[in-house]
Amino acid sequence: MSKTEPDAHADLPLPCLADYVAERAPTTPEGGMLAHRLDGLDDIAGERVPEGLPPIVDAHVHVFPDQVMEKLWAWFEDYGWPIRYRMSAPRVVDFLLSRGVSHVVGLAYAHRPGMADALNAYMAAVAGKNPRVTGLATVLPGEEGATEILEAGFDMGLRGVKLHAHVQCVAADDGRMDDLYALCSERDLPIVFHAGREPKSPAYKCDPWALCSAGRVERVLRRFPKLKLVVPHLGADELSAYRMLLGHYDNLWLDTTMAIAGYLPGGGELPLASYRPERLIYGSDFPNLPYAWDRELRIARDAGLDAATLEAFLGGNARALFGIADADS
Ligand SMILES: [Zn+2]
Repeated sequence: MSKTEPDAHADLPLPCLADYVAERAPTTPEGGMLAHRLDGLDDIAGERVPEGLPPIVDAHVHVFPDQVMEKLWAWFEDYGWPIRYRMSAPRVVDFLLSRGVSHVVGLAYAHRPGMADALNAYMAAVAGKNPRVTGLATVLPGEEGATEILEAGFDMGLRGVKLHAHVQCVAADDGRMDDLYALCSERDLPIVFHAGREPKSPAYKCDPWALCSAGRVERVLRRFPKLKLVVPHLGADELSAYRMLLGHYDNLWLDTTMAIAGYLPGGGELPLASYRPERLIYGSDFPNLPYAWDRELRIARDAGLDAATLEAFLGGNARALFGIADADS
């Protein structure tokens, strides 16, 4: 696989590689994947992690205080999909770990200015109680004291940052992001940034398609070569563009959260084996799922990956990225 050294391109006025494969997945519905509320699936959930899988890090689990989570669920029920697992954060963690997941990475995002400190303190408390939970901080980009909010979160033991372009109305290449990228580069802590343009809902305050593109993300990758950037959902729905970026930039990771479930409109069969193997990360979006918690684990098991790639995808890559010890069991 050919890889471009990111430093070499940081300041070159080259057109974005992503622009060459700019696409609109032909099956993405007009108005976005959430143009209409989706129905849940009645698929049968397993009692345990499927047999024969290597140790699993679920790197995309939502941990919010109850009152915030309940508002999120109300939004999903109206505009997204039915939530199959309504449980508070401590039960979320117990549910996954007791079924054989070895480690959980908890994510939250701030919807308004002034709420990040409370989300971060809550996350730190959940992670602090269990060595098998890694918590990430959040902030609303551009809010007063944004870098200090993140620094305070890191001081509480949080190991990276979660952001959401659609909810926070911020583009990856927005100037308000620069200080945050610089801070995370300096601290060597990853940012998990929902910077893909789907699933778009007309109910968002901002238009995700106007805010998000693989080209914008590529500009960030060039400008901040030391940043570790994770784009969830395989960058849906610009799947080809993100897969290409993954091959060219050493500061990009993709998580597969909800993207391999065969649930969201469009998509189809994904050639997981053709992705850069050391940069693919498993995550579930638990508990905000409209289908069985282990659905994507079963699909991953059957995706035709060799043993080393499957081990890296389901756990090893996330351990390396988030600095998670191997000792969990
Ligand atoms: Zn999520």
